[in-house]
Amino acid sequence: MDRFEVVGGAAVTDSQGSALRSDRNVVLQRTLGSAVSCTGQALHSGAEVSMVLHPAPVDHGIVFQRTDIPGPDGRIPASWDNVVNTSFCTVIGNRSGATVSTIEHLMAALAGCGVDNVLIQIDGSELPVMDGSAAPFVFLVECAGTVAQDAPRRALKIKRRVTVEADGKRVELTPARDFQINFRIEFDGTIGRQDYVFGGASGAFKAELSRARTFTFAGEIEQLHAAGLALGGSLDNAVVIEGDRVLNDGGLRYADECVRHKVLDCLGDLYTVGGPIIGHYHGLRAGHGMTNRLLKALFADPANYEWVDQREPAARQPVLTAVPNTPPLRAELGLKLAASA
Ligand SMILES: [Zn+2]
Repeated sequence: MDRFEVVGGAAVTDSQGSALRSDRNVVLQRTLGSAVSCTGQALHSGAEVSMVLHPAPVDHGIVFQRTDIPGPDGRIPASWDNVVNTSFCTVIGNRSGATVSTIEHLMAALAGCGVDNVLIQIDGSELPVMDGSAAPFVFLVECAGTVAQDAPRRALKIKRRVTVEADGKRVELTPARDFQINFRIEFDGTIGRQDYVFGGASGAFKAELSRARTFTFAGEIEQLHAAGLALGGSLDNAVVIEGDRVLNDGGLRYADECVRHKVLDCLGDLYTVGGPIIGHYHGLRAGHGMTNRLLKALFADPANYEWVDQREPAARQPVLTAVPNTPPLRAELGLKLAASA
């Protein structure tokens, strides 16, 4: 049974008076408003694990701390260059050999909710899978609330096209003015070919992606179990497909739930760069491994990227510019504007 709890009474409050806050175009870093915890079963090991998300200071980033490994040996920043395995999920590790598995759904929730700084304490080596989607983690973040901090949010701007191709899979980052994930999956049978474009607009993550669950094929479950994987897997935390049937009661949450989940995974994996991306991602039959290889290729050459302060999209042109220059209309519009001011 998954459990949630807001822990720690002293909520962090918005600090006031920063000059940064008077510049409405600058996006500020955010952390949680209070600590929040959850308990659940790990997908692969099947173990029961507890996790506490704590507010963290400016420029802290997203850092995991294994509470069963005291001190710095248990500390693992959620960074692309700490990714040590991508076979069935994203695993990060440090030099002491400590690892944390299946970080991608929580990372997607933090990316989708715009959380920059958080310390995640966990008493085992794998995150709880919850319902197989990012929705329970979005709920956790919403329970804690988020607060702005006194430093600009840094975004990774893609300056040059970077592509990785292997085994019929392809991933690419291209320069653009905004963020977008374009994804295509191709499977035999009932899933078939599915395309999805995620624009990253405010609120879109929660509505469009967060509830998409991980999926597997009934015929592969025995193989996974033999490899010591998916031991905590069930119809409560994964979509299971057998032939052309979805075995879960209630069927799919979205008709194209599988590709949406791949986009969710991708968003979480991309967040290991340490901030939002300004650029477009294109993924063909890709997964955790390909996305991590892409990030390694990106960071291999400093000419590929630059870090910039994130800014709100430019305000739209005033509506008056599109209105015929007739005095009565202008007068009427002026009245309306005054009334709504
Ligand atoms: Zn996933």
